[in-house]
Amino acid sequence: MPLAIRALHVGTMVDHPKRSVTFGRGDGITVDVVVIMFLITGGDHPIIVDTGTGSPEETLARHGFPFVRPPEQAPLAALAAAGVDPAEVKTVVNTHLHWDHCSNNDLFPNARILVQKEELAYAIDPLPTNQWTYERRAGIEPCWMKGFDRIETVEGDVDIMPGVRIVHLPGHSPGSQGVVVDAPSGPYLIAGDCVTYHENWDGDERLAHIPSGGVTNMHDFFASFDKIEQLGCTVIPSHDPRVVARGVFA
Ligand SMILES: [Zn+2]
Repeated sequence: MPLAIRALHVGTMVDHPKRSVTFGRGDGITVDVVVIMFLITGGDHPIIVDTGTGSPEETLARHGFPFVRPPEQAPLAALAAAGVDPAEVKTVVNTHLHWDHCSNNDLFPNARILVQKEELAYAIDPLPTNQWTYERRAGIEPCWMKGFDRIETVEGDVDIMPGVRIVHLPGHSPGSQGVVVDAPSGPYLIAGDCVTYHENWDGDERLAHIPSGGVTNMHDFFASFDKIEQLGCTVIPSHDPRVVARGVFA
C-alpha cells in the first residue's frame, strides 16, 4: 500500500499571540493555532508523528492558554475515525519535546518513541526561557515523561521504515526533527516547529523563510531552512489551519 499522511486535528489554541508563530512579526495580533497529530499509513505499521496537548483543562491549568477540543478531536476519537487502534502503532516520533507535541505519548503502549538525543538532554535542563514549554518546573511531571521508558534516542538523520526517514532540523530547539515521507505525489516533510505556518516557509519581502517565535539557535534555524530547500519536499507546517483543512497528503 502506498504511503500516506493524515493530519488529525486534535484541538486549537485560540487567540494565541501571533509573535509565537512568526519571529519578530505579529505584535498585538492573535491567531488560531491548530494542534495536529500526524498519522502515516501504508507501511508495515502505522506511525504517529507528534501526539498533541493534554486536555483543555490541563492546558489551561499548566499553560494558561484557552484551548478548544470538541469530543471528535480528542486524540482517541480522532484515531478511531481514522481507523487506527493505538495498540497497532509501533512507532511514535516526537518532532521535539515541547508540551504541545508530546503530551499523549502514553496513548500508544506498544510504540517506541523516537526523539533526538540532544532534545532529550535539553528537555531535562533547558535554558530558563524554555523551561515553561518543556514543563520543567516545580510540582508537575513534565509531559515528555509520559512513556519515558519507551523513548529511544536517535542522532541526526535516520531511516525508520522504507520511504520514511527522520531529518534533524535544529533551531527551534536543539533536537527538533522532521519526517520525510515518500508518498506517490512526491516527498513530503512533516516539519515540526521548524515551519509553523505556511507563512513561515513562504516568507515575506524581507526574509525567504521566517523562523518561529521560539528559537534556541538562529544559526541552526537558517541552516535547517537550507537543508529543507535541498530536500526538495512539499513542506507540511506544524500548526497551520490549512493543513487540517486539507487533511490527507498522499
Ligand atoms: Zn515547539
